Amino acid sequence: MTDRIRDPAAVLEAYRHRYQVVVGMEVHAQLLTQSKMFCGCPADYQGAPPNTHTCPVCLGMPGALPVANRAAVEATIKTGLALNCQIQPLAVFARKNYHYPDLPKGYQISQYEYPLCRDGWVEIELDTGESKRIRIHRAHLEEDTGKNLHVDGHTLVDLNRAGVPLLEIVTEADIHSPDEAYAFLTKLRTLLRYLEVNSGDMEKGALRCEPNISVRTWEQAARGEFGTKVEVKNLNSFRAVRNAIAYEAARQIQILEAGGAVEQVNMGWDEARQRTVLQRTKETSEDYRYFPDPDLPPLEVRREWVDAVAATLPELPDAKRRRYQAEWGIRAVDARTLTEERQVAEFFEAAVAAYGTQEGRPQRVAHWITGELFRLLYAEGTGQDLRQIAETKIRPEQLAALLRLVDEKVINLNTAKKVLEAMYATGDAPQAIVEREGLALVQDTDVIDRAIQEVLARHPEEVVRYRAGEEKLLGFFMGQVMRATRGQADPQTLRRRLVEKLTG
Ligand SMILES: [Zn+2]
Repeated sequence: MTDRIRDPAAVLEAYRHRYQVVVGMEVHAQLLTQSKMFCGCPADYQGAPPNTHTCPVCLGMPGALPVANRAAVEATIKTGLALNCQIQPLAVFARKNYHYPDLPKGYQISQYEYPLCRDGWVEIELDTGESKRIRIHRAHLEEDTGKNLHVDGHTLVDLNRAGVPLLEIVTEADIHSPDEAYAFLTKLRTLLRYLEVNSGDMEKGALRCEPNISVRTWEQAARGEFGTKVEVKNLNSFRAVRNAIAYEAARQIQILEAGGAVEQVNMGWDEARQRTVLQRTKETSEDYRYFPDPDLPPLEVRREWVDAVAATLPELPDAKRRRYQAEWGIRAVDARTLTEERQVAEFFEAAVAAYGTQEGRPQRVAHWITGELFRLLYAEGTGQDLRQIAETKIRPEQLAALLRLVDEKVINLNTAKKVLEAMYATGDAPQAIVEREGLALVQDTDVIDRAIQEVLARHPEEVVRYRAGEEKLLGFFMGQVMRATRGQADPQTLRRRLVEKLTG
């Protein structure tokens, strides 16, 4: 095997003028249904003792008959609609034949010639600010396989996962960089979570993706030709997908530049060494000998059913993003951040509802959520999982109340940040914290005047220099008086009184 490529991104950059990277993505998403795809066993397999969530159907016993899970079909229709797909009036379950210990029937029930959803698209936003559509070739329903465990030289099989509903989403080869792949996956996960059809958990295997990667010269691209595809498996984070695509494309470019040919193979991703490694050779679709499953009738999907499912769709992230920008003047970058997780969008909307939509107020709320509140969430060690915002002790109405205290000059911005931290820790209302801790700005001119007198008495030389024209000393006096009032003097009142005392 060749040496590891040290800087794949640099290789891609160096050959950008000659090669285009072409990526298609196959994504498998476990559907969050109560029961499995074709039997009544619980679909929740994490943590259960091995082979306890099984029955004759998902164990593949002779004579056991599958029945399609209506909730899984509806979740697929829902996802298909959110992916802008055409929902097909007729879908057919087909057997995909292959032999592997974690597949007890010797075949997987899938959909082949007649998938449930076709021809959709997902809009992705790139860091350049541009957006782009990635077309969806098809999305269909199938069942998950069991799991092989390798213990002390033996292979053990756990079939709790066998038969869990799996949605397969296949894109067109519209992805042309590692960053576009990353943006696509992020967007897809956002959609799946908004719809509550999938947890989006790549680490737990609930969401898996296999990119197929090729490179072609721009001349080939102009003729509509493609390079040889390599599929990469075993990717368990979005970052791994991005790195694997960069690595694999760079590897192919180096082969072509050396006068070689890319082989059509499957590769795995070695996370520790950050490189792709050769796996078993690729099966072609003929090897699977697909044929319609005689145990399952074709799935008829009437228009009324699709309409009924469409009526249950929530407002989707793109629509929310546009509404925030158009109606509330939210900056594009904030609108994107706020809509990535449904829980964050809901928190934001509730806070805006409590605070009001006039004079830039929604943008102020956005600023506090994406700034201070996210900082507190990250500090708590919730990782990057901003869905935790729904579990924090701060309620959206309390954030609105905090911002009103700033508007009414009861507290200043720095104090507000401290109050937010206390709200985060205790769940108390901001007014209660301000009163309890004595944080309100001092508006009382007697108190401020006394502090000014003390400071001026302590610094007679500076007073003389100020009066002789050294006006920049005002900042020094402001700072001293602020300190004397523990930062709680109203700055405008303080400044006015201080200038009066110094000049008068
Ligand atoms: Zn079962």
